[in-house]
Amino acid sequence: MSISEDKINKSNAEWKKELPPDVYRVTREKGTEAPFTGKYWDTYDSGQYFCSNCGAELFASENKYDAACGWPSFDAPSGRAKISETPDTSHGLVRTEVACARCGAHLGHVFADGPKETGGRRYCINSAALKFRRANQGGATPGSASDNGKRNT
Ligand SMILES: [Zn+2]
Repeated sequence: MSISEDKINKSNAEWKKELPPDVYRVTREKGTEAPFTGKYWDTYDSGQYFCSNCGAELFASENKYDAACGWPSFDAPSGRAKISETPDTSHGLVRTEVACARCGAHLGHVFADGPKETGGRRYCINSAALKFRRANQGGATPGSASDNGKRNT
């Protein structure tokens, strides 16, 4: 299986139709949400974070930590994540842009001031680029199907 076959290539016009305006602005126009305003900056439940554009797995709660910066921060992507890192010199800064390798969504930046014990990286990610799925959410099955179909004699 090659990664390139899995790639999603949509024009920005197509994404614009599908995505809420705030998500589009961050992920397709490389916007940055204001700190302490996103959905997940202080979420510490266990679960996984997926790309809000294409649903690819990106980060896991085990790697999330409180960097006190107002954005969701991770010390590493999840083991199965496909993330691209590209040098970004916009705004007169030298930073490394982080994007979803599958659909190209802009996620945020990675900085070198993360926790030393896990390698010193800080993935500073916009909540708008993420969709969180809490662990054990599959526990509730709708309705009780146990009695259905038993009396078919
Ligand atoms: Zn994606």
